Parts: sequence; C-alpha cells; structure tokens
Amino acid sequence: MRRPIFALGLSVSVLAAALASASPAAAQTAALTERTAVANPPRVEQSATSRHAMVAAANPLAVKAGVDVLEAGGSVIDAAVAIQAVLGLVEPQSSGLGGGAFMVYYDAKTRQTTAYDGRETAPAGATNRLFLDENGKRLPFAEAVLGGISTGVPGAIAMLDMAHRDHGKLPWAKLFGEAHLLAEDGFIVSPRLAGMIASKAPQASAPDAKRYFTKADGTPYVAGDRLKNADYARSLERIAKYGASGLLTGTLAQQIVERVHEGPRPSTLSLADLANYRPHSSAALCRPYRLYIVCTPQAPSGGPGLQIALGVLEHTDIGKRDASDEKAWFEFAQASRLAYADRDRYVGDPAFVKVPLEGLLDPEYLKGRAAEIGEKTGPVTFGRPKGAPDVGPDATNEPGGTSHIVIIDAQGNVVSMTTTVESIFGSGRMVGGFFLNNQLTDFSFSPTDEDGAKAANAVGPGKRPRSSMAPAIVLTPQHRFVAAAGSPGGSAIQAYNLKVLVALLDWKMTPQEAVSLSNLVAKGDSYSADTFPQPIMDGLAARNMPLSTGKGEESGLQAIIATPKGYIGGADPRREGVARGF
Ligand code: GLU
Repeated sequence: MRRPIFALGLSVSVLAAALASASPAAAQTAALTERTAVANPPRVEQSATSRHAMVAAANPLAVKAGVDVLEAGGSVIDAAVAIQAVLGLVEPQSSGLGGGAFMVYYDAKTRQTTAYDGRETAPAGATNRLFLDENGKRLPFAEAVLGGISTGVPGAIAMLDMAHRDHGKLPWAKLFGEAHLLAEDGFIVSPRLAGMIASKAPQASAPDAKRYFTKADGTPYVAGDRLKNADYARSLERIAKYGASGLLTGTLAQQIVERVHEGPRPSTLSLADLANYRPHSSAALCRPYRLYIVCTPQAPSGGPGLQIALGVLEHTDIGKRDASDEKAWFEFAQASRLAYADRDRYVGDPAFVKVPLEGLLDPEYLKGRAAEIGEKTGPVTFGRPKGAPDVGPDATNEPGGTSHIVIIDAQGNVVSMTTTVESIFGSGRMVGGFFLNNQLTDFSFSPTDEDGAKAANAVGPGKRPRSSMAPAIVLTPQHRFVAAAGSPGGSAIQAYNLKVLVALLDWKMTPQEAVSLSNLVAKGDSYSADTFPQPIMDGLAARNMPLSTGKGEESGLQAIIATPKGYIGGADPRREGVARGF
C-alpha cells in the first residue's frame, strides 16, 4: 500500500478517563483520575478495527453511548439517536437538539440507500430581505447570527424520529439514558469545548452562553471541570417521552418561540412553524465513481457539489497518481473550484428553485468541465449545464460549527450523518439546556444581484437553506458496503469530503491515513491548506496556485471502511473524535 507522506501529526488530548465516567458506580473515583487525565492527557488511539460493528464520532463519550446501544442489539439508527443526544451535551458548539442534520442510511438487507433531510426551515413569516438592514444593505454577519432571525425550525430530532420509525430496533425512550446521566451527574469539559468557551466567537460571550459556562465562583469552565445541565436532562425526558413532538410542540416549543422573539432582531418564528415541521426522506443521490457508487443526500445538501467534484475527477488521472504528486493536488484543486462555482450558482432548496441536477451530473457535461482543468489556474466560472435556470450569484457565508458521525451495526446497516447548529454555539441563545441554531444565515444574504437576478439560495418562507454537509456512503456496483465518511467545516466540507474519498478510493489509504492527510481547500481564487511539503507547494505555485498554509483548515472527518476481516475506522486528529467497535 502507498503511504501518505504528509499528514497532521497532532497529538490529541482526548479524555480517555471520561469514557469511564458514564457509569455511576465509577463516577466517584473517576472524578479524580479524570482531572489527572486532563492535566496530563494520555494519547488515545483514534483509529480502531472491529469485527461486528463500529462507531466514529467527534467525542469519546458520544462514541461510547453509540457502541453501548449497538452492543445491546440496537440498530445504526438507535445508535445515532444516542450519539446525537450525547453530542448535544458534550459538544454543544457543534450540534444538538436545537439544530439540523443530513443523513444517508444503507440497509444491508435490501441494499438500498435512503437520504434523510432534517434541515432547518425558515419561518412562514420570513422574506427574502431577512438579512438586509433598513436601507437594503446586508447585515454584518455576527449581527445576523446573534439575532432571533437566524434560527430555523430545528430538524435533527424530527429526522431521527422519522428514521427510528423506519429502522429503529430498541424503544426510542431507551436511547437517551447515557445522555441523561451525563447531564444529571455532569460531564467532563473537553479541551476543545473549553477552547470554544474561551474563544472570541461572539456567541461565546452571548448572555445565555456566558450564564451556562460560568462557574459559581464567577470563572469560566475550563478543561477537566465537571459541567452539569439539569435543563438538558429535562428536555431529554420530554423528547424520550413524546418523540420530536416533545421538542416541536408544548413547553419547549413555547420557550423556543419566546427566546427568538426577543431582540436584537426578533424572529417571526411561530408555534405553527415548529408544529408543521416535517423531515424528508428520499432515495439517496448515488453516482458512479470509478469502480464504486457514491451516495449522498439530495439538494439542498452539499451532496450535489461533492458529486460534481467527483464527476470532474473521474475524467482525470488522479487515481494513477498519489498524494506525493503535485499534479494530483492540482487536479484536485481545479475540480474543487469548478464544483464550487456550479454549486454556488445553482444549488438551493429544490422545493423552491429549479436545481439542474441531471445537467450538472451529466457525464458529457462533467467531461467538458474537466477539460477546463488545464495546466495552470485561470478564472473559474459556473458552467451552463442542460436545464440551467437564469439565476444570480450567491452571497452565502458559512463558518464552522458541526459534527460528523459514521456507524455500522452488527447487521451491516450503515449511517453517515452530518449534524449542525451552524456556527460555534449556534446563535448563542439557549432554551432547555441546548443552543438554538443560526442555520438561516446559510441563506444568501442578498436575494438578487444588481440586475435583479435571483440567487438560488435566497431566503424564502418555509424554505431550507443550502448546506455544504455531504455525508457519504460508498458501495460496490452490487450495492455492497465499501466505506462511509464525512466532515464538518462550513463550505470547506466539500473539499474535506472529496479529499477523504480520493484518499480512500483512489490512493487506497487506511481511514486514519485518509482523514489525517493534509487538506487543500480551493475555491475561487483562494487556496488554503494545512502543511504541504515544499516541492508540492513549489509545483502548485508554478501552476499559479499559491497555497496559504496553516490557515486553520479544520476538518472533523470520520471514516469507516469494510475489509474481508471486518471494519477499520479513523477519526480526525484535528478534533477529539475516536473510532471504536466490537
Ligand atoms: N451550516 C453549514 C452547512 O449546513 C455547516 C457548518 C459547519 O460545517 O460547521 O453546510
């Protein structure tokens, strides 16, 4: 096997001892060892192999909850519910009860893949001027995020509820035990969460976040502290009892509406908006890539963008090259730029705008786009696929606050799910112990360009904002499971996911090698990257592609592959995740 020649070698301070803290019996003694562990963090192996089942997610406590459910005979969907419930508590900067998600589900028996869409929706009262000020100028991003207007109807729990009705095995109410215990007894604040609490993100100093993250002595929680969240436990009790209705109707719904109606920039979100929310399910968007089939969710997810990038790379020789080859990275970057240009132009909520999907993914069209790769960079613009509507340019800004989960159960069913509150701590506003999303800022702030052409991703009442999230599952042509992968990272998700798929499928790296490999995010005229060896940097610079390195490109990739001997999983060394199985 070819080895990756450069990758992040970060040592991750994962809270190993915290894994033990979910058991109440161990809690007393664990408290001490946990603190020692944080002061002197052990290096925890992030990758894993297993025979029967596996989970990879962004926090070891969430992984443990998922593995426990699988060991108790639960399905991948059961595990996803338990993992999401824990992540919303221990990684509140990224996802939770107040956020949304996209998921691809593979059913081992029928070999079908289903896409679930739990994307947040805009209230019925939203207009395409939502993010414009009184003079028609775009609001400053932070002002929009912190306003009541940024919150869409949360969809992650409704999506999981729907998927659980379809494919759950254990009773819904039994899936929240671990999260409930951690909320009641407290969980150990991880270094990453502590970093977010102390960060300059405006949400970290929003009043609700400040209150939650300040100790009785007036100082902020730091890594190693035990944080309790009784309100979160109460919210879980409602959701365990009533399903998604426990969140979208009744007292929690009332509190959500009241909180977002408060200034600054109050929302029109109503109880009816919450009660009327419906997640979607459909066949996944599956396209061939070399010897494989790659399945992603449909628009408005990042699935189409990722499929375009793969479709362009299909017409290159990147598969014959490897990660030490500067030309391979040039092709990778050019395919990314072409795909970003198209998805930015054309992808929006297909219930509201015409997304020319067949034209964009037509092999002839993609071949023509691949011919634009050339030998040096030049300007890149959107293409003209068949059925392309006349739409205006996009003005969407997407910072990162999201998480990725991959799961395989003992029956061989698979979940790849990206889940989000949009930015770090969402809008910074809390209800019931969890953060409310700011997902509506994923809409284009400007509804039209100067000539009045409408952006595909303009705000609309009841509309879902375009996403970059593109959880992927890879199959053989006979629809047998090969791999599952995905990442958070705002608009960079497309580049992260493309890298991990090329590394796994073309360069035959292991999941850990593939997720650790340096990232390169090429979009428009911006080329940002982790560390790359000088010869690659020089080669790319000679092709008019100057890489700005160390730009904090922060993926949170998780990946699992199937092998004849079982499963191999890997988790991104840039965050705190692990893969574990049995
Ligand atoms: N809100 C983004 C999206 O849905 C994801 C942000 C992130 O990855 O941090 O595409």
